[in-house]
Amino acid sequence: MPTYTVINPATEQPVRTVPSTSAAETDAAIERAAAAQVSWRATAPGERAALLRAFAAEVGAHIEELAALEVAGSGHPVGAARWEAGQVRDVLAYYAGAPERAFGRQIPVAGGLDVTFAEPLGVVGLIVPWNFPMPILSWGLAPALAAGNTVVAKPAEMTPLTAIRIGELALAAGLPEGVFQVLPGKGSVVGQRLVDHPLVRKIVFTGSTEVGQQVMRGCAAQIKRLTLELGGKSANIVFADADLEKAAATAPSAVFDNAGQDCCARSRILVQRSVLDRFMELLEPALNAVRVGDPASEDTVMGPLISSAHREHVASYVPDGAPVAIRGTAPDGPGWWYPPTVLAPVSATDRAWTEEIFGPVVTVSAFGDEAEAIAMANDSPYGLSGSIWTRDVGRAIRVARGVETGNLSVNSHSSVRYWTPFGGFKQSGLGRELGPDALDSFTDVKNVFIATEE
Ligand code: NAD
Repeated sequence: MPTYTVINPATEQPVRTVPSTSAAETDAAIERAAAAQVSWRATAPGERAALLRAFAAEVGAHIEELAALEVAGSGHPVGAARWEAGQVRDVLAYYAGAPERAFGRQIPVAGGLDVTFAEPLGVVGLIVPWNFPMPILSWGLAPALAAGNTVVAKPAEMTPLTAIRIGELALAAGLPEGVFQVLPGKGSVVGQRLVDHPLVRKIVFTGSTEVGQQVMRGCAAQIKRLTLELGGKSANIVFADADLEKAAATAPSAVFDNAGQDCCARSRILVQRSVLDRFMELLEPALNAVRVGDPASEDTVMGPLISSAHREHVASYVPDGAPVAIRGTAPDGPGWWYPPTVLAPVSATDRAWTEEIFGPVVTVSAFGDEAEAIAMANDSPYGLSGSIWTRDVGRAIRVARGVETGNLSVNSHSSVRYWTPFGGFKQSGLGRELGPDALDSFTDVKNVFIATEE
């Protein structure tokens, strides 16, 4: 079987060799998943719930091992990697409550009654990006399984290690063979087969908008259900009346989390003109406190970028002569390091303003009033995340309603929770994941009329 090698982004050393799944092996896995789905959907809801709880517990017992794999294979700081593994456990535990609550409705009709059933779709294909290999896998996996589907997951080529291990933990927890399979390999082979194979009834795709468009075209051929979580270009809007100290102190986390390789990165900081100078004074020490270094070290805040090619791409947003206002530090030597970088001022045609950077580079721009702040935040084909800093509650609500984006936070940089819905406006995606209604997108609703007249 052909294989490829996963490289440690902090050392450039090989970590492990993994199989590169072929199209024929992908088809065989999809057929196993379809066969397993027959008994999985028939498994009593309480039993399915118990198996998901056991799976959550198994992941919970292996947090350190999973975190170490993510440190080595993806360069995530160990504290963040532990949190990500914990999120897999928590998402599985949350959706373990769902099989026993998959209620239908009884709708009044003449001559009998009408009841609805939320039927599982069949086999679900999960296509996962490299930036958050564990959480994003779990967001599709847990509700899909809870609804009675079986799952074939394709991790990103560069970061398959934790997904492979989570697949083994599912079996150890007692999930039947074929209910959850992980196929490392190429997007153009494994991902494409998941899109094209008629037994796969839904694709959950998280990745770039360009590949998302291809996947959407492929799914159209079979009217295949599809959730898309795509790119972002989000704003962090700071009004003059805000707690500036707090806004500046958290601004680095809002954009440099995971070295900026975050779909929710707020890579445009918009500051009301009257407080711009003060904000920049406060931002500098906050940025300098971002410790960039060995991801295995407990006090590291930011690790390396995922690959040499990606570092080149990120660096292209900071050409010679770019308006670098603040720059942090990064290690020399092996590893794909890039220092946290603030650009200001930039024009509205600068690529750093218009494109998703997906690295530790942020722009700071000034705005005059509320309307201008909203217009600047919306100046993008994307709409995924955003933050608003103000002490005026009415303004917070007005601006939150005005910004065309799926997930916002007010006076906080944190807006993603597994128990609240997550997804994008505009070209940032289609459909919602997470939250209490996630099973709706992994089921089709059937109505059954039962005549009661003699
Ligand atoms: P990508 O689009 O290159 O790859 C995503 C996945 O698709 C990978 O597993 C890849 O192998 C697979 N793929 C590639 N070609 C395919 C094909 N023809 N058919 C099927 N699958 C194929 O994205 P990436 O570089 O891994 O991730 C970065 C992007 O993901 C960024 O744009 C980021 O914003 C986005 N992202 C979005 C969210 C969100 O929730 N909205 C979350 C994380 C990342």
